[in-house]
Amino acid sequence: MRIPYVNIKKQYKSEKRKILKIIDQTLESGNWVGGSEIEKFEKKISKICNTKYCISLNSGTDALTLALHLLGVRKGDEVITPPNSFIASTSVIVHLGARPVFVDVKKNQNIDETKIEDKITERTKAIMPVHLTGRMCAMDKIISISEKYKIPVVEDCAQSILSKYKGKMSGSWGDVGCFSAHPLKNLNAMGDAGYLTTNNRNLYNKIKNLRTHGMDESRDNIKNFGYVSRMDNLQAAILNFRLRSLDKIINIRRENVNLYLDNLNLNKVYFPLELKEEFNTYHTFVIQVDDRDRLKKYLKKNGVDTAIHYPVPIHLQKASKYLNYTKGDFPETEKQSKEILTLPINQFLKKKEIIYISKLVNNFYS
Ligand SMILES: *Cc1c(COP(=O)(O)O)cnc(C)c1O
Repeated sequence: MRIPYVNIKKQYKSEKRKILKIIDQTLESGNWVGGSEIEKFEKKISKICNTKYCISLNSGTDALTLALHLLGVRKGDEVITPPNSFIASTSVIVHLGARPVFVDVKKNQNIDETKIEDKITERTKAIMPVHLTGRMCAMDKIISISEKYKIPVVEDCAQSILSKYKGKMSGSWGDVGCFSAHPLKNLNAMGDAGYLTTNNRNLYNKIKNLRTHGMDESRDNIKNFGYVSRMDNLQAAILNFRLRSLDKIINIRRENVNLYLDNLNLNKVYFPLELKEEFNTYHTFVIQVDDRDRLKKYLKKNGVDTAIHYPVPIHLQKASKYLNYTKGDFPETEKQSKEILTLPINQFLKKKEIIYISKLVNNFYS
């Protein structure tokens, strides 16, 4: 048996006939930049996320950049964020000239909200929680801190489309929610794409303007220098099609997690079980184990591909050297970086494959 970690080829195969027709229709329409698919996508997302506005963009990274920029993050400012994320959530802070101020995470891999207040200074311009693996941070507590200190919250929702906390959608808690539709995310485009959600009309208008060279309807009068951060109409068409099955895909991923939990020896494998206030969408299924590297090799030898999200904490990356963090600064993040292992969870896995993987893991520890 050989079990790949992700299965994009299978996804394409399953939708090829319909997707090719949609691509053809969109190209025939002649609207390649901007167009009705974009408008449709934005309407759908703001409805799903229960926010007033959605803006489609070219990536999750640009969503984060534009959000922080518009919320006033400038040179010398500070942004609070966890050190165990995908590198982009920190790079965007750096590129605005600001300093990432890390806060360690909890056992469930999300930012420890009880440690945020200690890191707030007069230079803190934003708090950026990351809803890692499709599990949301404790947003009620984070929003209370935000209100107390009047510091805006930018949610990194790249891994959390449709996730909920206390019944409220990811992307609808903070001032802005930033999403990615990279091919490896649960709602995926056929290339780079992203989007953001907000209830702030002023922010919405400004970002809409900035994403396309700072041009309004009148293309000749520019009030602000902008970027090129638009989503392609073609990607929007693909996402509109895929949105129709997103609920189903997330349900399958949730069922896959339950099947793992029924079969894995949970005395040897730690997994933070879903709490009643959570609705997790499992962009990834990450277990925490002893002897992780040997388990990874063992699984590989038996045909199972796995991944590590992420093996080197951001504060220990070479690029972070100038920030002067050292080993030991974020013990939980550092411990997890040695124990986390991402098992295949995609919607194309067969039941018997999940049972096979679980048995291999149990065997390894027996
Ligand atoms: C994927 C991801 C991003 C970046 O999204 P892109 O669309 O690839 O730019 C940012 N943050 C997190 C946590 C991610 O997983």
